[in-house]
Amino acid sequence: MQNYARIDLAFERGAGAYLYATDGARYLDFASGVAVTSLGHSHPRLVAALTAQVQKLWHASNLYRIPEQERLAERLVEHSFADTAFFCNSGAEAVEAGIKLCRKYHDDSGRPERYRIITFEGNFHGRTLATLSAGNNAAHRKGYEPIVDGFDPVAFGNLNEVRAAVTGETAAILVEPVQGEGGIRPADPEFLEGLRAVCDEFGLLLFFDEVQTGFGRTGKLFGYQWSSATPDLMAVAKALGGGFPVGGLLAKAEIAKSFTPGSHGSTFGGNPLAMTAANAVLDVMLADGFLDRAARMGARLIERARAVAAKHPKVIAEVRGRGLMIGLKCVVPCAQLNDALRRHHVLAVLAGDNVVRLVPPLIIENAEIDEAMTALDAACAELAA
Ligand code: PLP
Repeated sequence: MQNYARIDLAFERGAGAYLYATDGARYLDFASGVAVTSLGHSHPRLVAALTAQVQKLWHASNLYRIPEQERLAERLVEHSFADTAFFCNSGAEAVEAGIKLCRKYHDDSGRPERYRIITFEGNFHGRTLATLSAGNNAAHRKGYEPIVDGFDPVAFGNLNEVRAAVTGETAAILVEPVQGEGGIRPADPEFLEGLRAVCDEFGLLLFFDEVQTGFGRTGKLFGYQWSSATPDLMAVAKALGGGFPVGGLLAKAEIAKSFTPGSHGSTFGGNPLAMTAANAVLDVMLADGFLDRAARMGARLIERARAVAAKHPKVIAEVRGRGLMIGLKCVVPCAQLNDALRRHHVLAVLAGDNVVRLVPPLIIENAEIDEAMTALDAACAELAA
């Protein structure tokens, strides 16, 4: 089907931060498969873990206990606000599960009228019918109306608008700690803390979408950990599997108890292969110093990118982000900068608000940052000329 505008480039192999195209050309991967391959390509730990699991068991279903799933859930609980986890196969499914849990929780609490969720302009939560309805991208909705009812968007970062949008039908607030697809727009820690206070005041659930920000992308295991606010539930996916499709919904026990046997499910969700990949990702990310190093590399990359941007004010207006989740807000059409970078063999990815996203693997080295910034400088010089 023609639902992707694909670039005429195919890869046959990846190693660390590099991808090798079928014509033999080498590319520095600052797209990471859209913030997925955070340990780079062919990480030996992931290769070994998955290779061993492939020999033993791929799938048996959630009809039975899955020890790898129990282990992953325990580790995620240990390292987050959550008490319990549900696993699925993608980010959209994780957010969808969360939307359902918000409704079910209030229904179980005797307040079935509370089904609406406050969302934010510039957000993105996926492409299922409910998640595109939660999102506020008109192009994603076009032709799919009527959308799912129950989402009330307000301006990102504006607590007054949030408070004004709360009604007796409000169930929850859904927010990305850093808007990814919307153009790498970090929420202030105080904004997330303010949302927590609004939720506490009105009995709402705070629902974080950490599909893109999760697993070290911002320099902490989860993006919300830059603030003192904790959510009631949180969707994760992308980097969790290191490239193997997996999503998850984490929640406090008090909320999650509304998911009773039969109330939600997934055939593939949390199968042994996916869980083995995710456990291997955590083995690496939870090792001493890994996340601190990612945060340091992020600081280095943003500083270097700002220096390049300052040289080319006709091309890049602003560099923003958190950790290794960096946006170049362009003056020129962002696709031009992205294409120019690719001509210099650096892969990046577009986002909203005329932004080019730099989301390299967290294992990135200084020399690779230097290489990418040399390419960015050259690409900007071309465009400026
Ligand atoms: N939520 C956020 C914040 C995302 O960035 C994405 C994907 O980009 C999704 C949800 C949807 O995830 P998936 O494409 O795995 O369904």
